[in-house]
Amino acid sequence: MKLKEIGEFGLISLIREKMVRKDSNIAAGIGDDAAVINLPKGCICLVTTDILVQDTHFRLDYTDPLRLGRKSLSINLSDIAAMGGTPQYFLLSMGLPASLPLRWIEEFFHGVQQVAEEYDLSLIGGDTSLARKLTINITLIGRGKAGEVIYRKGAQVGDQIMVTGTLGNAALGLRILKSHKGDSSISHAEDRDLAELIDKHLSPTPRIAEGRVIAKNHLATAMIDISDGLTADLGHVLEESHAGAKIWVSQLPLSEAYRRKAPHYISGDIDLAVSGGEDYELLLTTPRKKREKLLGLFRQFGLKITPIGEIVDPRHGLRLFLDDGREYRPRNKGYDHFKKPR
Ligand code: ADP
Ligand code: MG
Repeated sequence: MKLKEIGEFGLISLIREKMVRKDSNIAAGIGDDAAVINLPKGCICLVTTDILVQDTHFRLDYTDPLRLGRKSLSINLSDIAAMGGTPQYFLLSMGLPASLPLRWIEEFFHGVQQVAEEYDLSLIGGDTSLARKLTINITLIGRGKAGEVIYRKGAQVGDQIMVTGTLGNAALGLRILKSHKGDSSISHAEDRDLAELIDKHLSPTPRIAEGRVIAKNHLATAMIDISDGLTADLGHVLEESHAGAKIWVSQLPLSEAYRRKAPHYISGDIDLAVSGGEDYELLLTTPRKKREKLLGLFRQFGLKITPIGEIVDPRHGLRLFLDDGREYRPRNKGYDHFKKPR
């Protein structure tokens, strides 16, 4: 069955049926002109939105609807994580081609629902329209406390630069998908490295619990999630903080899968870890005296956190160094939609 057979309102009822959640703070959700939510006293509201456009952010030939549904919500969660907040409500707007199979949409919502359940989120509305290309826009609302929220500004000279998880997996996963002409089945059964790398691109994990621990314990002076690549996103922190940074390239955390597969797909092994996007890891700056506490608290997560550099005077800009003291110059500065990569 195709979307055109059930129409816009058929689709909205289907979504409404599939996505039921009870939250006593929602006075009105899907089905009225606007959602109505009660905000508890003393909380501040964090609001973020992200758009995914077919053929710009994803291609239908190598993106399965389940993981695209998961990713659509996860990338918004990552922005709330980067502020140290708790996600709560979301609105989902879609531009859909009428020829899209209903099965595809159901699988997509299944993915959205999985993530909504994992993080206890409620869908409170959205909009639906016909479109030539599939377009997905989620707005996510979360709560935070004024004294806990972590901004991009705030990094201080001498702070350590830390990153969660590993870098480069998502960008390498995308290279792999492209080099196999979108055949994502190459990976799954036989090669666990390929599966891991591809999965990081198609379904990244937002670092919500980690962001909360960092915020609650005041362990970061600045934080951002890595969506455009390490150098680009660290660049945003430096700009907002009026600071410079030194990065030690040999310290960048690489997964075993990355180490094994990168040489087969790219020439400079480290390039995708330096400037590849979409890992959705947290990048933060931590005062030296809080470093041990941060490392200690992270032991509960089974996710590593790695010191990769230091905040320095803004006159130094952002510079990367190899172990022998030579400077490393990345070939690519990270993703910018309106500029061609250099
Ligand atoms: P309006 O004409 O006021 O935009 P709609 O008929 O588009 O209202 O939407 C009816 C209700 O369904 C609203 O509560 C809206 O938030 C919700 N809704 C519409 N599309 C979606 C969607 N894709 N996901 C979730 N809720 C949706
Ligand atoms: Mg509408």
